[in-house]
Amino acid sequence: MDCISNMAGQKKQPILWIVSIAIVCFLSSVSFAETARTKIDVSDIRFWSYPDYTRVVVTLSDSPEYTKNRLANPDRLYFDIKNSQIRKELKTTLPVGNGMLKSVRASQFDESTVRVVLDLEKVREYKIITMEDPIRLIVDIYGQPSAAATSSNPAVPAKRRIVIDPGHGGHDPGAIGPNKLYEKDVVLDIALKLRKILSQDPGIEVFLTRDKDIFIPLEQRTAIANSKNADLFVSIHANASPRKAAKGIETYFLNWTNDEEANKVAARENRISLKKMKKLNEERDILEIIKGDLSRDSKRDESLKLANYIQLSMVNSLNRDYSHIVDLGVKQALFYVLFGARMSSVLVEVSFISNPLEEKLLSTGDYREGLARSIAGGITSYVTSDPPVQLLARNQSQNQSITHPQSQTLARASGRIRKTVASGQ
Ligand SMILES: [Zn+2]
Repeated sequence: MDCISNMAGQKKQPILWIVSIAIVCFLSSVSFAETARTKIDVSDIRFWSYPDYTRVVVTLSDSPEYTKNRLANPDRLYFDIKNSQIRKELKTTLPVGNGMLKSVRASQFDESTVRVVLDLEKVREYKIITMEDPIRLIVDIYGQPSAAATSSNPAVPAKRRIVIDPGHGGHDPGAIGPNKLYEKDVVLDIALKLRKILSQDPGIEVFLTRDKDIFIPLEQRTAIANSKNADLFVSIHANASPRKAAKGIETYFLNWTNDEEANKVAARENRISLKKMKKLNEERDILEIIKGDLSRDSKRDESLKLANYIQLSMVNSLNRDYSHIVDLGVKQALFYVLFGARMSSVLVEVSFISNPLEEKLLSTGDYREGLARSIAGGITSYVTSDPPVQLLARNQSQNQSITHPQSQTLARASGRIRKTVASGQ
């Protein structure tokens, strides 16, 4: 939470309140087979509140079956979670009062149903996402754009806002190398170096989801990016494989996949089993969310483009100083940390920490600096490649549908980049 406090403490940044109805003291350790026979525990409800965006997270002991409904007079959204019970310690009402959401209420509606009610105020739209391990029902609520998010003078170009997300942290070390190098430490150092480099550009504002060794839930990282009204979100990770020989650099954007290796990477980063990961690719609500997310503002095209620029820059740049840099390319998979991100967003796997040689490289300041410089190079190429789509968007009412005059189809974007890759080799 220190990271959040720091970021919230910066001038002109939205104030963040984190309130939890109750701390999750312990989650059920019984097996799924056992929980299937018992009621689903509603163990925690919390929210992250920003001027024009709120993320509500309901933590459950098992996958919920639920119905949802929105009622008027007064405006409210409710969820009836079947075969469930509410923890006694939970308060029944959680006041929010941020202009979008008056409060969140939860109660045992009948013997087998917990009802969670969101008392709405001025809400532009909402979205529901589910995540596993622990199982969370996530509701994203969008209000009207805040004054801070819109420019009073469209002639003055706003700065590009980039949120860098060093993966893992705190009690979550991420992948651990054969010589005990921790992914969380490597990616934090790269992110700090990247911030330093990008901050030299007066047209760029950089935020980190964490700037120290603390744990931040995946859903909070996306919430931070959305709250900053960021133009780009770049999550940084180090790869791992049971195959010691596995090596190379790859960059992901959010999309379905049936690629086994990509699903393994996403399963590890999502901290769920490969089996659950494959199931995730088939879940209807996830499909709907992603379909809606990707169609908005050509986000998939833009994320693919960003991924290509970063991947190309990393491979070309590192190849100058290091031998045997392996280009694993741009890939797609369902990463929780990219769910619900409103901007072009990618996840970079900088090298394999499980490979003894790459672990050795990752342990050096030079290699990390090279990675940071090349990621910054990719970001800069992307930013200068097209008119500032998100900036135009920010200067318009977010009620209007945003069009990108030079948006490209997925095929055109990837075709152009492939050519660039080919000529660069
Ligand atoms: Zn990771």
